[in-house]
Amino acid sequence: MAVAIASESRLSSVQGRRPSLATLCSHSSLQIFHGARTEGFSTLGLCVGAPPRFYDAFPLARPDRFLSVPTVRELPSVAAQLRSEGAIIVPHGSFVEYVGPQAFSELDVPVFGNRAVLGWESDRRKEREWLDRAGVPMPAAYEDLADVDGPVIVKYYGAKGGKGFFLAKNREALADFRPTGPYVIQEYVLGTRYYMHFFYSPLSDRGYRVGHGSLELLGMDRRDEANIDELYKLGAQEELLKAGIRPTFVVTGNVPVVLRESLLPKAFDVAGRIVEQSIDLFGGMVGPFCVEGIMTEELEFKVFEISTRIVAGTNLFISGSPYSDLVAPGLSTGRRIAQEIRRGEAEGRLAEILS
Ligand code: ATP
Repeated sequence: MAVAIASESRLSSVQGRRPSLATLCSHSSLQIFHGARTEGFSTLGLCVGAPPRFYDAFPLARPDRFLSVPTVRELPSVAAQLRSEGAIIVPHGSFVEYVGPQAFSELDVPVFGNRAVLGWESDRRKEREWLDRAGVPMPAAYEDLADVDGPVIVKYYGAKGGKGFFLAKNREALADFRPTGPYVIQEYVLGTRYYMHFFYSPLSDRGYRVGHGSLELLGMDRRDEANIDELYKLGAQEELLKAGIRPTFVVTGNVPVVLRESLLPKAFDVAGRIVEQSIDLFGGMVGPFCVEGIMTEELEFKVFEISTRIVAGTNLFISGSPYSDLVAPGLSTGRRIAQEIRRGEAEGRLAEILS
């Protein structure tokens, strides 16, 4: 059995009643509401100002009710109302970013997943320590510019969508680098990017066993990233820099991908290690997470980032993916979250999956 990550008092608002699932109206909310509805939950959309009109276009994903706040930062002020409605918050990739990590970690409402993960994922160095301890291959990191011996990517802390990242093809090219804040320098890995959507269930006792539960692969995508993805069509980067155009990695969409089947053992091994290590470090991740990495031509998978909540790439698979269809037909990550909560309720084990 997994460890409890929620106190009795945190769970009191959802005990002895049917909870409703709530999330912020953005990112992957359509999928989360659709999945919750399919599993028989009532749904609550948290929005800023008037409810977004586009939900009217998607009747199967429209939340049953909306709760409006003047700004996202004011969400903590409606915590008591959320508790009185028996809400469980399902955080998505934008939720923590908009609400702010501090406010999110203190939000006095039950949240799906382990909030303790925040301390390990929001700082690039701590995340690296987690992956290092797990024995997961990563792009080399350089402490000193003088050690650079190949192409590198310089990443700023908290750079959303890789804004302001600096690419240099060698040490000499780094001479032009003028830091504007704290950064890390990484080996620029040449290969193919894969964003793998996993789900760790601490409640499950069958399937691919990891930690106290089991690991599922629900989908995989690659991100369309403006403007880097199409840069090659315009010529060499140096020429563009002369023209004042810098590469960015701002995500503009997602495309579905599948991995060579012979590489799946590697994918599961990496994801399994990340989960096992999370259990040792902070009691374990729960639910969806995304392993983001680059497969080299030597077929080594180097992980540059993990996202520890539902990622927007899962929106491709609302009616199932080539992987999730082999777990259960038509299974989305949003629906899988709702199933996990339903099971936690039925088995009296919500303390293992909510925090
Ligand atoms: P987001 O918050 O949107 O996930 P981020 O600011 O955390 O972005 P990363 O996810 O680390 O940044 O990287 C953004 C993009 O940069 C990746 O999707 C990938 O295309 C590219 N990238 C990151 N690290 C490397 C690397 N070591 N080698 C090559 N490309 C990389």
